[in-house]
Amino acid sequence: MRRDTKLIHYGRGPLPGPANPSIERASTILHDTMSTFRDAKERRETDDHVVSYGRRGTSTAHALSAALCDLEQGDACYLYPSGVAAITTTLSAFLRPGDHMLMVDEAFHASQSFCRDYLAQMDVSFSSIPWDATDLSPYLKPNTKLVLVESPTSLTFKVMDLRALCDSAKDLNLTVVADNTYGSGWLYQPLCLGCDVSIISGTKYLSGHADTMIGAAVSKGDASAPLRAHTLRTGQLLAPDEAYACLRGLRTLSLRLDRHAATSQQIATWLVERPEVKRVWHPGLADHPGHNIWARDASGVNGLLSLSLADGFDPEVFVDTLKLFAIGASWGGFESLALALQPKSGLTSQDHPQVRLHAGLEHADDLIEDIRAALSKSTLE
Ligand SMILES: *Cc1c(COP(=O)(O)O)cnc(C)c1O
Repeated sequence: MRRDTKLIHYGRGPLPGPANPSIERASTILHDTMSTFRDAKERRETDDHVVSYGRRGTSTAHALSAALCDLEQGDACYLYPSGVAAITTTLSAFLRPGDHMLMVDEAFHASQSFCRDYLAQMDVSFSSIPWDATDLSPYLKPNTKLVLVESPTSLTFKVMDLRALCDSAKDLNLTVVADNTYGSGWLYQPLCLGCDVSIISGTKYLSGHADTMIGAAVSKGDASAPLRAHTLRTGQLLAPDEAYACLRGLRTLSLRLDRHAATSQQIATWLVERPEVKRVWHPGLADHPGHNIWARDASGVNGLLSLSLADGFDPEVFVDTLKLFAIGASWGGFESLALALQPKSGLTSQDHPQVRLHAGLEHADDLIEDIRAALSKSTLE
C-alpha cells in the first residue's frame, strides 16, 4: 500500500466505528481482578501499546506512535510533549558522564544549548562537525559515543550525506541520532539511510495547524532498548488531546507538503532573479550546497527558505512590511511566516541569511506579490 493511502487509514479501529481514534483520557485503568491487572503489567514489558496507566500513554497516543513508527520505518516510536523534549531525552538516553558526542555545526539552537548548558555540566563534552562531513574518524575521540545530525541544517538548509556519514559511524561504533523535523517522516527516512534514531518535532508539519506541541523519537535495532528505558524512567508522555490533534493533522501531511514545496520552490526561483536579493537558500535550487544528495535521498522540499538582501536593503523593514507573512517562531503550520535573523558574528550576508520565510498554504501568486511589494519598500533611507 502506498504511503498516501496509509496516512488516511492509520489508527482505524473495527467497524462500525469512528473514522478517527477517540480521545482516551485516563490516568488509572480499572480492573476487577488482580490477575488481569498483573497480566497487563506483564504484557506492557514487551508491548508498548498495552493500556495500563496514563503515563504509558492511552490508545490515542498509541495510534499516533504506531503511525509514526511506520512512516519512519522504525522498530519503536516514543512520544514527548515537545520536539525539544524528544531531543533532550534521546541524548540523555545514550550519553553518560565521561562521554563525548559530535554535532553538526548548524544544529537546531536548543540542541546546541542543551549540550553546552546541561550536558557539559554532566561531564559530557561535544564537538562540531561540518555539514559535509562523511568520514568521522578525524573527529573521533576515544570516548566518542554519538553523532547528532540534522539534514538539511537549520537556517541554511545544507544537505548532509547521511548514507556516507552513517557508514563511517557504523565502522566507528557510534549511534547516529537525526533531527528529521525538516523531512517530518515524509520527505526522507533517516533510518533507511543508516541512522539509529529519527527525531521529529511534530509541532511543525505533522500537526500542521500551529496549535499543537509534540515530539517523537523513532528508533531501530539496538537503539530502541536504551531509548525506551530512559523515556519510561523519566516519565515522558504525550497527552491524548495532543496525540489526537497530531493524528488529525497527519491525514493531510502529503497534500500539505506538496503545496508547501511547490510554493517555496516558486518563491525561491523567483527571488534568485531579483536585484534586491543577494542570496537564496533552498535545497530545491540546483546550485544549493548538497542539492544532488537531496535529489538522491529525498522526495521533495518543504516550505522553508532563507535569503539575504542586496546591500542598501534593510531585512527588518522587509519583514515588517510583509502582510501575508506574519512574524513568528516555529513553522510547518498552514500559515506563512517571516523572521529577521540575528547577524552571525564573523559571517557576511553572503554566508549567513538575514531572513527566513515559511511558505504557507496561501496562493503562491499572492505571496510573491506580497514579497515584491515589501522588497520595493525595503531600501535603506
Ligand atoms: C522546532 C524544532 C525543534 C523543536 O521542536 P519543539 O516542538 O518546538 O520543541 C527541534 N528541531 C528542529 C529542527 C526544529 O525546527
